[in-house]
Amino acid sequence: MKRVATFPIRKFGDPVLKQPTAEVTDIDDALVSLVESMIETMYEAPGVGLAAPQVGVQKRLFVYDVGEGPHVVINPQLSDFAGQWTYHEGCLSVPELWWDIERAKEVRLRGIDLDGNELDIEADELQARVFQHEVDHLDGVLLLQRIRPDERKEAMRALRERALGLPGDRAEAH
Ligand code: ZN
Repeated sequence: MKRVATFPIRKFGDPVLKQPTAEVTDIDDALVSLVESMIETMYEAPGVGLAAPQVGVQKRLFVYDVGEGPHVVINPQLSDFAGQWTYHEGCLSVPELWWDIERAKEVRLRGIDLDGNELDIEADELQARVFQHEVDHLDGVLLLQRIRPDERKEAMRALRERALGLPGDRAEAH
């Protein structure tokens, strides 16, 4: 079996996560290889979705697997947001932190796949959540912008302490 390279996942603080992505104009061998590596990186993490900026690539695409095998969506657009659904949501780029975040329960996602076929998916619950989370990444938005100000303050403290190597919740008492 061919070994597929994996990427390091970019973490909060990396400017690449705040930049909006460019539409994909060519589906070439390099893009296919990027997608294969993103899928492998997602499984290795493990996660249910991974957007290109999380591996340092400013292209509008993401991969996901909500239990039905890996898929890729190129140039995704969301519409038809409906309902509300709260879910305990985390992000591979903001590791080990989770929040109950309310987002639309249902969305419609349009884009194209690796063969250039048009995708048109009506998603709900977990799949809709993953789509909204990943499209946020492609717009340069992290889930830290989707939580309450007090939660964000607490999160920034935890992330700062982690960056400085200060003992946090996970520190062993000596
Ligand atoms: Zn994420």
